[in-house]
Amino acid sequence: MTKGGTILLVEDEEDIASLVRAYLERDGFRVVWTPKATEGLQELERHEIRLAILDLQLPDSDGFDLCRAIRSCSKLPIVMLTARDEEVDRVTGLELGADDYVTKPFSPRELVARVRAVLRRTEPETDDDLLEAGGVVLDRRSRTAVVDGREVELTAREFDLVWHLAEHPSVVVSREKILDRVWGLAFPGGTRTVDVHVGQLRRKLGRPDLIRTVRGSGYKLVS
Ligand code: CA
Repeated sequence: MTKGGTILLVEDEEDIASLVRAYLERDGFRVVWTPKATEGLQELERHEIRLAILDLQLPDSDGFDLCRAIRSCSKLPIVMLTARDEEVDRVTGLELGADDYVTKPFSPRELVARVRAVLRRTEPETDDDLLEAGGVVLDRRSRTAVVDGREVELTAREFDLVWHLAEHPSVVVSREKILDRVWGLAFPGGTRTVDVHVGQLRRKLGRPDLIRTVRGSGYKLVS
């Protein structure tokens, strides 16, 4: 299972579903998608789901009914999607126990941000999920980096790379080892990829000295 966990997506419009899925997967989540409410309930029993995204208008049911059915037996975080921008829907959804509400058309980036926010709000933090180094706080649950109170957007690879270095502070890690641990052995590219990502991390985090280049050896993170 990926670090982001598994998200259940119940959405009958394939275009929207595949777009949402792509963005969530890029962010490190695994996605179980189904177009029907009845199948959504079955998938919930089949997988260990961390959060559900429910479309309001489904071919075999109403997203409200599905939300109510899930709420009757679990505290699973729920984000509702709707084409209707009406206050009554919003209120009804929240009264039924949905944790947040996104109105179509929405940007997939915004949806991912809402999903992360709901997870942050609904799941207790554990120390294993947080690392701090040189004024940068890494949160593995939301896969975010916070620098001086400002959230910095990182790609999945960038986050995995800085997390891996932060797990072993002051230890020099070779480019080959980073490639192996972050990209996996199947990655066809060379170690130059690591250099490029380190460069992006230095720029994005605004902490050029945090990840130090050790000539001929690799990289290390210094606090
Ligand atoms: Ca629909």
